[in-house]
Amino acid sequence: MPEQSQGERLFSPMRRLGAILLDLFYPPHCSLCGCRIEAEAEGEGSVFCGPCLADILPPPEHRCPVCSHPMEALMLCPNCDGRHWHLETIIPACRYEGGVRGMIQRFKYGRDIAMARPLGTLLLRAFKDPRLSGRTFDAVVPVPLHPQRQRERGFNQSDLLARVLSCSTGIPKQDLLKRTRPTAQQAGFDRSHRMENLREAFVLRRQLPPDASILLVDDVSTTGATLDACAAVLKEQGAAEIAAVVVARG
Ligand SMILES: [Zn+2]
Ligand SMILES: [Zn+2]
Repeated sequence: MPEQSQGERLFSPMRRLGAILLDLFYPPHCSLCGCRIEAEAEGEGSVFCGPCLADILPPPEHRCPVCSHPMEALMLCPNCDGRHWHLETIIPACRYEGGVRGMIQRFKYGRDIAMARPLGTLLLRAFKDPRLSGRTFDAVVPVPLHPQRQRERGFNQSDLLARVLSCSTGIPKQDLLKRTRPTAQQAGFDRSHRMENLREAFVLRRQLPPDASILLVDDVSTTGATLDACAAVLKEQGAAEIAAVVVARG
């Protein structure tokens, strides 16, 4: 169930009034270029101006059906061919370039939490992918950070994205996973070293609903190893289906 207390529901009209006043005194601006945008606009138009939106490109059409690595045709990439995955597919919403890349870096390394809403709004594009069409999910589950890393950063970027996604889709966010040990940066490691590094890094925090269909959320994926390590735990504990959405494939 969505974690909304009675108190929060009670104050939601106040919140709406707050939003109207905020628009009046601080009209919305494009999250990329800062230009003024329509206060009444919805969806992506409520966070980006037209020209900036035109520069945010969808992922390449031909890609690996599992990890979405760009390919010459719709075919398994060398990373996925013959590999046993615990999740079905990883769907990126956009290309990891230009403005999107800059926003993700501001979000994670610049600790700019104002990036959560525009990036979370872009994440909704992943639902247009045919691999997700017609599917329903019981829970949106963010990839957890190790508590130490989260204290350093001040927030978990995947959690904030999952909140935006949950608000927009109505799929409840559930913090089902916990990271039990910090994992070193994955870049530069070979595959077996990465898998070794991730093994047993995640545990379940609480019981899954029976035959749960889970949508994992992260900001960026590269090899998909982190997402698959999360999926392995969920699968072991009885999840029926697991897919993942990310803002971009790095
Ligand atoms: Zn703009
Ligand atoms: Zn692949």
